[in-house]
Amino acid sequence: MEVSRMPYRWPLDTDFALWELDVLDRACPACGRMMHICDHRYRRLLTLKGPVQLVCKLNHCPDRDCSSHATTKSPEQEAAIAPPNWAIGWDVFCWIGHRRCSRHMSIPHIQSELLDDYAIKLSDDAIAKYIRRYQVMLAARQQDPEALRRQYESVDEIVLSIDGLQPEKGHETLYVVRELTQKRVWFAEPLISATADEVRRLIAQAKAWARSLNKTVGLWISDKQDAFVTGIAAEFPDVPHRYCDNHFLRDLAKPVLEADSHAKVQMRRKVRGLRKIEQAVLKQQSAAAPKSLAEDDPEATLTVIAGPANAPSLKSDSASAVVLDYCAAVRGILNGDQGGPLQPPGLQMAAALKEVGESIQRNLDAKKGGSQKSNSAGWPAASTGDWSMSKPSKRRSENTSRTSRR
Ligand SMILES: [Zn+2]
Repeated sequence: MEVSRMPYRWPLDTDFALWELDVLDRACPACGRMMHICDHRYRRLLTLKGPVQLVCKLNHCPDRDCSSHATTKSPEQEAAIAPPNWAIGWDVFCWIGHRRCSRHMSIPHIQSELLDDYAIKLSDDAIAKYIRRYQVMLAARQQDPEALRRQYESVDEIVLSIDGLQPEKGHETLYVVRELTQKRVWFAEPLISATADEVRRLIAQAKAWARSLNKTVGLWISDKQDAFVTGIAAEFPDVPHRYCDNHFLRDLAKPVLEADSHAKVQMRRKVRGLRKIEQAVLKQQSAAAPKSLAEDDPEATLTVIAGPANAPSLKSDSASAVVLDYCAAVRGILNGDQGGPLQPPGLQMAAALKEVGESIQRNLDAKKGGSQKSNSAGWPAASTGDWSMSKPSKRRSENTSRTSRR
């Protein structure tokens, strides 16, 4: 039998869902600079949805002289998924607490239901430990006022969140008020069907706590259900109330990514004909190149362009190389698929294509009135089917402007 203090032992074949968490507020608390991701913390936990591996992106201030440089910040919503160092998420915790405290089920009964319904295997003393924590949380007795005051001594502003956790539909909801800068649960209360007044009472209680600590509440975070919005507005009229990033993203991610994917299709439909441009350039090149090289083999003709010994004429070679570079850059952009709801890949694609367009325009402007003939007017607009990948020429002309991709 495992001891509750021992770390949870995961079976080797556990299939974890990956949940990536970002820091919401990335402004350095000391100097206000945008913080950088400096590390990742991995943690595994049991949820009613299955085993989860959290990837927490840790941020710190990049300025070495900043007093906050050595401090890392964890994603705020980590605490909304599970308290620090727990092997179970809030949902499992509420599920256990509800079974014990409202339905008065025995520990072995809870243990077997957890295993049967959710394939979650917890030892009886682990379950007993979580039940004790649940009772303590509800009684809000864990807060020794002196210890709490010491913990908040160096904190200027606090960030509060309220969340309603309902592990099962139709059953009671556990309302939890947390303080996010110190990752502390302040108190919790199970309510079967919470009225706006009951929710407001919890928010008023948080206000009393903040007042007794003599701390300013800088921000409230919630999923903005009506009762939270009205309750917080009534008790904290001047404090901003923001969406919990977690809920907000979950609600937004799907339509955002769908729209983004549609936009990508549209852009790919519009920007076509790369292969034809490349073939035209390569043909032009091979016409000037020694006959010994196979003309129809694009790899061979690319070698001609890249190989200095075979350079037909410097001017046309560098111009062709630039065209091929543009093609390679545009192909890279069209094939790019990195990003998520916060950095939609289609938006990145649009920005990159715009940069390329501006860069081409700068070339055209520079050449206006010059003797050099512009090839671009004759670029075919026809679409091609599939494109094969070809490596861009490494050789670039020094006096020709280039695409300015970072
Ligand atoms: Zn800083």
